[in-house]
Amino acid sequence: MSRIAYVNGRFTRHAQASVHIEDRGYQFADGVYEVWAVFDGRLADSAGHFERLARSLGELRISIPLSQAALGVILRETIRRNHVRNGMVYLQVTRGVAPRDHPFPAGAIRPSLVVTAKSVDMVKSQARAADGVKVITVPETRWARCDIKTIGLLPNVLAKQAAREAGAAEAWFVDDLGLVTEGASSNAWIVDAKGVLRTRDTQANILRGVTRKSVLALAAKLGLTFEERAFTVDEAKQAREAFITGAGSLVLPVTRIDATVLGDGAPGPVAKRLRDVYIQQARQDAA
Ligand code: PLP
Repeated sequence: MSRIAYVNGRFTRHAQASVHIEDRGYQFADGVYEVWAVFDGRLADSAGHFERLARSLGELRISIPLSQAALGVILRETIRRNHVRNGMVYLQVTRGVAPRDHPFPAGAIRPSLVVTAKSVDMVKSQARAADGVKVITVPETRWARCDIKTIGLLPNVLAKQAAREAGAAEAWFVDDLGLVTEGASSNAWIVDAKGVLRTRDTQANILRGVTRKSVLALAAKLGLTFEERAFTVDEAKQAREAFITGAGSLVLPVTRIDATVLGDGAPGPVAKRLRDVYIQQARQDAA
């Protein structure tokens, strides 16, 4: 079955889909993106991702002539045309095509909009969660606006490659104070040695994860003790549990950090419960 992509108003074969060589996304990473998990063909955490998309676009002063409702139609149609039941849908908006020059183009240009969708094998995803994954720690090398979900992801790419070469699923960035900021494509969490669920606060230079926000709401609903407070790598290595959250990873237990095995090396009960409840809730609320 051939994949279909949406590019600037048209659905086209994925293999032939393209944008111009002077697209500012290609030349300057001048654009933003958003990713929704898809459950039963519908968008998980739909509103949160649309809100963040609007914020990211606003921060870069890119305006698109499409309402949220219109974008929703495009996302769902891309999901449908790719026969995705469970998986992910990716949306990217760049400032558009213009002769290469750093400042914004003088005249109005049309932003480029690309949407793709792919299936995820939920059986494999659940098996991976049941095993738990390894993360490595790497120095924080990113810019000061990680709250904007831009397509400028080179430090994240390098960190992920380092993780892959170390047999790990994710890399956690660590700032100059030895505090974990977040993962290369996820937010980082622990259940600390005292049993407190912790994830870094969003005053820090991190992405305001949509899954993170939903999981915090679930933690409150379940009556868990939690804090939005940074943790050190040492605290993480001595933690009872760790996990990551994101539209791709959902809630994914972490069982090793660098060479340290957490607890008995199996996913912890809090991470497992939050994963189950998150998936159940996200599936139920998907729109
Ligand atoms: N942090 C980074 C750097 C990310 O790239 C992502 C997701 O791609 C996340 C956190 C998790 O965000 P969300 O839960 O909104 O997918």
